[in-house]
Amino acid sequence: MVEQELQDNDNQQLSKEIDQIDFKTLAEDAPVMLWLTNSTGENIFSNSIYKNFIGRENVEKMGGKAWFLALHPDDQQFCLNTFSDAFQTHKAFDMEYRLKRRDGEYRYILDRGEPYINKNGIFSGFIGSSTDISERKTSEDDLQKSHQELMQYNQEMSLINQLNSYLQVCRTLPETYPVISHYAEQIFPDWAGNLYLFNETKTLVESTTMWGEVRVKSEDIISPDDCWALRQGREHIAIEIENRLTCNHVHNDIDSYTCVPIIAQGEMLGMIHMEYIGHFGFETDEERQRYFQSRERLMKISADNLALSLVSLNLREALKHQSIRDPLTSLFNRRYMEESLQMEVSKTARSGEGLGIVMADIDHFKKFNDSYGHDAGDTVLVAFAKLLKNTFRDSDIICRYGGEEFIIIMPGIELELVAERANELCIMVKELELFYDDKLLPNVTASFGVSHLSDNINDATELIKLADVALYKAKKAGRDQVVLFEPSVAEEAGIK
Ligand code: GH3
Ligand code: MG
Ligand code: MG
Repeated sequence: MVEQELQDNDNQQLSKEIDQIDFKTLAEDAPVMLWLTNSTGENIFSNSIYKNFIGRENVEKMGGKAWFLALHPDDQQFCLNTFSDAFQTHKAFDMEYRLKRRDGEYRYILDRGEPYINKNGIFSGFIGSSTDISERKTSEDDLQKSHQELMQYNQEMSLINQLNSYLQVCRTLPETYPVISHYAEQIFPDWAGNLYLFNETKTLVESTTMWGEVRVKSEDIISPDDCWALRQGREHIAIEIENRLTCNHVHNDIDSYTCVPIIAQGEMLGMIHMEYIGHFGFETDEERQRYFQSRERLMKISADNLALSLVSLNLREALKHQSIRDPLTSLFNRRYMEESLQMEVSKTARSGEGLGIVMADIDHFKKFNDSYGHDAGDTVLVAFAKLLKNTFRDSDIICRYGGEEFIIIMPGIELELVAERANELCIMVKELELFYDDKLLPNVTASFGVSHLSDNINDATELIKLADVALYKAKKAGRDQVVLFEPSVAEEAGIK
């Protein structure tokens, strides 16, 4: 600054005294680059330090050409405009531009020009100084870059926080997938990615959700042996150019990718795989390195955050599982059945579709327990539950209602089909081959009561009660059969 102020003063002083002293003598040995133009903009004097900088002796002879030729091509137009404005207005000017030094390096230059008015009051040209401001410029650029990086970091952290708060309210793992891909796209705009999680048996990782404009070129199911990150339990970074190892699960034509394991409390839950889909527009190696290092850091932060959310979600799922499932058979428990039946009844009232209930009860189970033991009885209950799970659709709600009684809620189905399913089941129960302690157990049978939502029956409690009535009738009629609720059944049972 001080130097520039001095230059300003110098210039002003010079323009006043230009006629009285020999300007050239004074300027020749000045420690800054100085120059003088005539009124049409041609260089009529450049001091030695200027000539030395530009690497030409004959600057004056070339007029303005020496300067123009040394300008950075991108700055030429701007400089010409500023210059021609100054010559039209005769006003002092400042301009920053890049000028090629003798050694070929472009340097940032600050030019300051002062109009030179001769003693007759006529504009005769500009007296100017040129200062190499490259050092200042570089530190300014660095400062701006750091500022930009900080802003970006803040933005990324704020997105990660938002992601966390959404994950916290997700109730199931699949609910998290669209949330994860939505945020991953925003946090890593130049990357396509894939979230892999370990399967139940913890032997393979499976793709759960993807993001990015292009599909990642990586297998959907990966054996941990095929991924360096999963093998080592630490990130594997494979960036273009660098001599790198490639995981088996990625295609050969992949340029740059990363695999970052998701580890919570020492347990590996899965891995984030990302492929760089941006365009390498880095000016220097250092810039490229900084970019990838910052992405690597961000990926690790994201993976750690995700790990914590997934763990707490697993915990919540486990707790929920405990509160709604029967521990012996893993079927829904009675409380869950009652809640969901209420919901299904209201849904059916709106949709007008059918809703069927099958109530099943194993025949003479007390006797079975007495003859073969309680544990053998448990084996029967587990096998019966498995048969139910295999027979009914995923959308049906299968519950252990109590001891050896089960209820299946079947939404969106007509009475005939409910009866058909129950009859099939009645046959399959008899055919179940059951072993306990390596010994074949005798076959069991079950009885079934069926009710269906209709104009007359439109209440959850009543639906259950009527299925129970039908089941009672099946028992009375000799067991091992299906009875559908009909008004006559109710009459016989003394209901309605
Ligand atoms: P019915 O054909 O009339 O249904 O006769 P039942 O013997 O099956 O009926 P009852 O209600 O008299 O007996 C049900 C038996 O189911 C009594 C109980 O020992 C048995 N039971 C209930 N819960 C369990 C269980 O968790 N494990 C085992 N092994 N047995 C159970
Ligand atoms: Mg019973
Ligand atoms: Mg029974």
